[in-house]
Amino acid sequence: MRPTIGVLALQGDVREHFHALAACDAEPVNVRRESELDAVDALVLPGGESTAISTLLEVFGLLEPLRQRLREGMPAFGSCAGMILLASEVLDTRPDAQSLSGIDMTVRRNAFGRQVDSFETDLDFAGLDDGPVRAVFIRAPWVERVGAGAEVLARVPSGPAEGRIVAVRQGGVLATSFHPEVTGDLRVHRMFVDSVREREAVRPA
Ligand code: GLN
Repeated sequence: MRPTIGVLALQGDVREHFHALAACDAEPVNVRRESELDAVDALVLPGGESTAISTLLEVFGLLEPLRQRLREGMPAFGSCAGMILLASEVLDTRPDAQSLSGIDMTVRRNAFGRQVDSFETDLDFAGLDDGPVRAVFIRAPWVERVGAGAEVLARVPSGPAEGRIVAVRQGGVLATSFHPEVTGDLRVHRMFVDSVREREAVRPA
């Protein structure tokens, strides 16, 4: 089964996610309007600028429909700005920025600070056993708190931010501080697409 996976196409690195999903044997579609959101099995929220995407979600009338789909259990994957949007609480953002509460977690925007504003490192990622994941961080957030229902999948291994949480999953919702869509390593996308496929296989038609 080839799940239809939307990429929220309001701002950010939409194309990179689109190609990664296609390479994982999913059917990617751009989502800009409610009817497009209604038609997808799952949604990817790209990296970009979370406050801009938040504003555009309101302008395009997608904020409440997206919250509703998440409440109903639609799987989602957010990278970087997408992680910020999926949080239940965001620190260091604009007061009018909206969150979607897909995962019970507190995320700090632009958390890594100047010195390591953007950097790359190799991470151990729970559930991916065939070697570390190359993680690209670009003005990335980190996670400061996760709720009891959320599972930590990766932490920064060393350096000034050692131990900081950078990948989390709660039910079908996955979030990474970094950008798996830019490295050509498809394992994180594949993990997400496989979880969508498994969910669709057991769901009553
Ligand atoms: N700093 C951006 C934000 O706050 C996220 C950066 C990214 O997605 N690469 O939204």
